[in-house]
Amino acid sequence: MTPLSRSIARRISLQGPISIADFMAEALAHPQHGYYMGKDPFGRTGDFITAPEISQMFGELIGLWCAEVWRLMGSPALFNLIELGPGRGTLMQDALRAARVLPDFAAAASIHLIETSPVLRDIQAVTLADHRPAWHDDLSHVPDGPLIVIANEFFDALPVHQFIRTADGWRENVVTVNDDQLVLAAAPAATAATALLANRDAGAEGDIAEICPAAISISTALAGRIAEHGGGALVIDYGYAEPAGIATLQAVRRHERHDFLSDPGAADLTAHVNFQDLQSAAQEHAAVYGPISQGDFLRNLGIELRAQQLTQRATADQQAVIESACRRLIDPAEMGTLFKALACCHPDMPPPPAFENAAISATTTD
Ligand code: SAH
Repeated sequence: MTPLSRSIARRISLQGPISIADFMAEALAHPQHGYYMGKDPFGRTGDFITAPEISQMFGELIGLWCAEVWRLMGSPALFNLIELGPGRGTLMQDALRAARVLPDFAAAASIHLIETSPVLRDIQAVTLADHRPAWHDDLSHVPDGPLIVIANEFFDALPVHQFIRTADGWRENVVTVNDDQLVLAAAPAATAATALLANRDAGAEGDIAEICPAAISISTALAGRIAEHGGGALVIDYGYAEPAGIATLQAVRRHERHDFLSDPGAADLTAHVNFQDLQSAAQEHAAVYGPISQGDFLRNLGIELRAQQLTQRATADQQAVIESACRRLIDPAEMGTLFKALACCHPDMPPPPAFENAAISATTTD
């Protein structure tokens, strides 16, 4: 057992089996051994690669999205530009460069980064030095005011509870110890978290459900702030618009799947994002658009034109890189369909860019 597995096993011997959400929180955020505490996980030599690290076009188009949302907000003289889980700061850097087309936007923005990893905070401080960002542990510490929020591959890192449908109803999958190993087991009776499934379809025996309470509460908080102060949020992640009854929790290390219980802290742990839950939480307060596929989102913002512009000034080798990055971001066989974009705006605002033809959901008060 690794030091973190031993510490989790000790906790289980004291308090009994723990939820997968508690296990995930330990594996990702344990102060000494947590995955996000000790290293930079990105890139070919790291564990995974994200859209902003694939191409500058991704952050640039999101920068233009933010600038247009700011204009639709009435161009407030001061607003908070907030990123949840900014990674290496690449997306924000590319976004702010592209948004220079509206100089007043940059002058009005104060940059707030919500980041748990000390290592990534250090990298962001270098990447974004010119923009003097402020760091926070969570949204509640960001000052009030109009806001634009970006979250790319943030929600998938939040801890999920997992349940299995048995003949006796939903049972939570919990982590326990057997033969000196961490193992998964269905809890013998309903746990407190099982109440989270109250509104779920019964499902068929053997179905798996995952619920992310942190995602639901962050979505509610974002939409509440947007309703109160004005603004918009853009969430991009891999996930589903409707649950399919299967497990999506996975561990990835050096671009390969990994057994998620075997070496906590050494592999990234993520679960697909349940966009339906984000949407229903947000629509209590604000107008919600989508989700639409990442392919549609980027095409609507003109990624193909941007790729063409970039290739005009490039060597043949660079052209091939730009074209393959563009394909990777929008092709349905790559990131184009699995990744989705959801936007949430103040109910008085027109639809944000790229979402003009998307389904809208909002609370109707009658
Ligand atoms: N958005 C970046 C990084 C995605 S990886 C990109 O697209 O490249 C997930 C990011 O969220 C990392 O920066 C990670 O440290 C951060 N993170 C994960 N869980 C978090 C939490 N609970 N609070 C704040 N940041 C978190």
